[in-house]
Amino acid sequence: MAPIEGRPLPPPTARPRPRVTVNTNVRHIDMLVPDELTTGRVHRLAMRVGDDALNRPVAIPMLAARGRKPGPVVGLTAVVHGNELNGIAVIHRLFDSLDVEHMRGTVVAAVVVNVPGFLGRRRLLVEGADLNHHFPGDPVGPPWRIYAHRVMDRIVRHVDLLLDLHTASTGRVNTLYVRADMHDARTARLAHLQRPQIIVHSPAADGTLRGAASDLGIPAITVEVGNPQRIQRDVVRGSVRGLRAVLVEAGVLPRRKVQLGPAPVVCSSSHWLYTNQGGLLRVLPGLGDRVSAGEEVATLVDPWGQHVESYRAPTDGIVIGHSVDPVADTGARILHLGAVAPEGSGLHDHTSASSAWRAR
Ligand SMILES: [Zn+2]
Repeated sequence: MAPIEGRPLPPPTARPRPRVTVNTNVRHIDMLVPDELTTGRVHRLAMRVGDDALNRPVAIPMLAARGRKPGPVVGLTAVVHGNELNGIAVIHRLFDSLDVEHMRGTVVAAVVVNVPGFLGRRRLLVEGADLNHHFPGDPVGPPWRIYAHRVMDRIVRHVDLLLDLHTASTGRVNTLYVRADMHDARTARLAHLQRPQIIVHSPAADGTLRGAASDLGIPAITVEVGNPQRIQRDVVRGSVRGLRAVLVEAGVLPRRKVQLGPAPVVCSSSHWLYTNQGGLLRVLPGLGDRVSAGEEVATLVDPWGQHVESYRAPTDGIVIGHSVDPVADTGARILHLGAVAPEGSGLHDHTSASSAWRAR
């Protein structure tokens, strides 16, 4: 072969030195057994729940802090929807504040439940499947059902209380609010201790992690911590304060005066308002605003700037969340309106329920 004319080739770059990173801090496990964790330590764990198509393990990063004395196992889950990230910061901040030497029982946190969704920067698990519609799952398949089953079997069934941390979905924003069955004294107490801006009474729905935990007799609430795809320090701080109040009441943290924030607004129900035409949407009230029946809450214009339609609140209520995406097809979400429960509705009672929380 004739030599190639022209400039000589640059000298070869130094070959990268092979580097194997083994994070020796992290222990790989395939079942959570709280009683087998060494006491007086924070454990960094990776819970294998399956393999990807390259036969690489899919493992949920977990933290577990076990105190010196026996007590309940309090469970936290975050990122069941892959782009709902505030819960990660809530867990990190909470664990930074824990003093295992003076703790009872165990705090266990699944930092990223939906590993494929997190890596893909998306809400869903695989093939359009919303993991939070498939609990308690199925030991055989398909993939999203076996994933849900292993989360239940390997993590959730080993805890005594569960707080599942979420955020709004893409294109929407939320207050710091809690969804809980307020007719159950245990979950009502969990909800009130969180001191969110708003509590929405909602019996646990089929398919959700909260519902599947409840079916196992584990008191569980959903905490909606702000907005997707970002870390928001203010709502994260508020959520950590609420979690510490739960840990004090559960006896995990030493009993001391807990500074509870202002009482939340309790809603007996909530629903979304939707557009019935398409266009560019503008939502008028802000998060946490009270609206009156008949008040204009949104407008829709066409691409030529002409007014298409106004939307009005069908009832009095409080704005729990709303759309921030102006691009609206027919049926787009406008705002999430909570019906404020009157005093005496039975949803405000929140006497101590810690004795009802099972202790390990
Ligand atoms: Zn979610």
